[in-house]
Amino acid sequence: MTAFATLAGGVHAVRIPMPAGGLPFSLAYLIEDARGRLLVVDPGSPTAEAQAALMGAVDALGRRPADVAAIVLTHLHADHAGGAEELRRRTGAPVLLHRREQEALDALASGPPAPDLDAWGVPAERRPELQAAATAPVVPSLRRADGLLEDGDLLDVPGRRLRVLHTPGHTPGSVCLHDEDAGLVLSGDHVLPTVNTGLGLGGPSASNPIADYLASLRRVAALDGPDVQVLPGHEHPFTGLADRCAVLAEHHLRRAREVAAHPGGTVWEVAASLTWTGGWDALRGFTLLSALSQTALHRDFVARAPLP
Ligand SMILES: [Zn+2]
Ligand SMILES: [Zn+2]
Repeated sequence: MTAFATLAGGVHAVRIPMPAGGLPFSLAYLIEDARGRLLVVDPGSPTAEAQAALMGAVDALGRRPADVAAIVLTHLHADHAGGAEELRRRTGAPVLLHRREQEALDALASGPPAPDLDAWGVPAERRPELQAAATAPVVPSLRRADGLLEDGDLLDVPGRRLRVLHTPGHTPGSVCLHDEDAGLVLSGDHVLPTVNTGLGLGGPSASNPIADYLASLRRVAALDGPDVQVLPGHEHPFTGLADRCAVLAEHHLRRAREVAAHPGGTVWEVAASLTWTGGWDALRGFTLLSALSQTALHRDFVARAPLP
């Protein structure tokens, strides 16, 4: 895929550069409506470079900023939603996201939740790097959406039937968008073609994000069909949605079974006994924090119900 590609009638993918250190780019989507205006899905990172890539694509389509009719966010992470505030300012278009994501933004406004390092049994000498990692900002400057989405909503896009699916797991208010006529599933970070989705990364949740995620995978897998194309938030568009969902479910269930095989000990001790790409000893700072929080989620998951 080049930096800007037309995928299906009136649907365009734009590579949006990301700050160094993570994935190289996110994918924004520009969707034309019957009146010639554009829906923007996930404008991308909060950088001038990202904004320039997006506005360059709008311009290449012969549209002006005022032709952007609405901005939809699949979830609150900065690599998808970070540019929303600036795009809203430039275009006057409303920003829409799921109600649960707005609740998470409200909860995170006072800072990210502090991990309970005591309960996890983290040795004293490893605590400072985890405390530093936990204060790293993960949410964009956006504070308030102009409209809240609910599961089953049909977006107001003339000439298209774009249905909202609430797919919690990656974050509590993650959504996928289903273009029911064109057979497109915009999957955000819920389903990526090769990268495994991290879970529980969007603020407090009363339910277990792993259980939520497995249920959400079953919902989107049911949308698959011979002509269905998936438009993810990173990497590249792909087909084979149900197969990819099965692989992702198995990835998380394998880890759950591994955690279930270590019923005793603290989160720290269990995590140290698991297999990690690159090895446990190489985990530092944010990746160590992420490994511990994923282990804690899995322990809670296996304690709640027998594994399928
Ligand atoms: Zn994300
Ligand atoms: Zn992402």
